[in-house]
Amino acid sequence: MKLSRLGEFGLIEKIASTTPKGHGVRIGIGDDAAWVRSKSGSYLISADLLLEGIHFDLRWTSLFALGYKSLAVNLSDIAAMGGIAAYLILSVGIPVDFHSEDVEEFYRGIRSLAVKSGVALVGGDTSAATSLIISACVVGHAPYPPVRRKGAREGNDIYITGSLGDSGLALKLLRSHSSQLPGKALAFLLRRHNKPTPRLAAGALLAKKRLATAMIDVSDGLLQDLDHICHASGVGAVIWEDRLPLSPAYRALAGDDGNRFALAGGEDYELLFCARRRHRAEIENLGKHVQVPITRIGRCIPASEGVRVFDTNRKLRVMQTTGHDHFRVK
Ligand code: ADP
Ligand code: MG
Repeated sequence: MKLSRLGEFGLIEKIASTTPKGHGVRIGIGDDAAWVRSKSGSYLISADLLLEGIHFDLRWTSLFALGYKSLAVNLSDIAAMGGIAAYLILSVGIPVDFHSEDVEEFYRGIRSLAVKSGVALVGGDTSAATSLIISACVVGHAPYPPVRRKGAREGNDIYITGSLGDSGLALKLLRSHSSQLPGKALAFLLRRHNKPTPRLAAGALLAKKRLATAMIDVSDGLLQDLDHICHASGVGAVIWEDRLPLSPAYRALAGDDGNRFALAGGEDYELLFCARRRHRAEIENLGKHVQVPITRIGRCIPASEGVRVFDTNRKLRVMQTTGHDHFRVK
């Protein structure tokens, strides 16, 4: 079968279905990170691949920002399980015409986030390559039971941290050369695209207080990642567009795109989670405590009703679950 038909997630399911569960594997393929346990301890492990031309473009991403982002996307997966990030293994494939100063700049970016988040670079691999390749693996501690994609129940509230769509809109503006436009709003969007903030404190606290019934980080667009929670949990969802948290910069520059990038943009690296209604006040407090806005954007409904989006007039908007899939033809 062609990969364009099977899709990225169909392929992952196929790999998962033929993979025997190893000894000590509590959570294997299919969540944001794996969770393994032995007598000596319990660890979360997550890997991400970043390829030049697919995931990043050096015309508008500095090597410092790329280093920062390479670690941030991995930390975001650890955050989505409620873990504490600890170690990084980083492998790089580097074109031979790069200068050592370029590589140092990349590692400065890595270091700046690693220091802030208490992560130690402990190894990796290096090779020549035809374009820049970054493969990162983060290992974290799981002091609390990890929060999975499955676990959401009908009637649960749906929340998102931070704001949505900034990164997707930034990418569109960069591609259409609007980046030459000056302005604070654009600078904000570019920052969100190049240096996303992994929500480690929020994720760990949600796990510690057992407030989230299911959680994922939004890397492929809100609707796509919500669909993963729904699929894993066996629920449907309703999302109210007028509740979507949009930054002032997004509102200023989205124009005709409206909520498009907030719903399906990708690379937000915010936490999408579900929680019981009786925990609303606690979740509001938690947001204040970690100084990250947490917005209630919807509710879990029966699986038979699928994922529904209601527009600003609370009218049902018919739309497909769209988002990023590496193999699907757009
Ligand atoms: P995320 O967007 O959170 O990084 P992915 O959609 O990339 O998650 O992956 C979903 C799950 O599938 C994860 O558990 C990941 O480890 C696993 N996975 C992805 N690609 C492969 C692969 N080639 N082999 C084994 N597991 C994979
Ligand atoms: Mg993830």
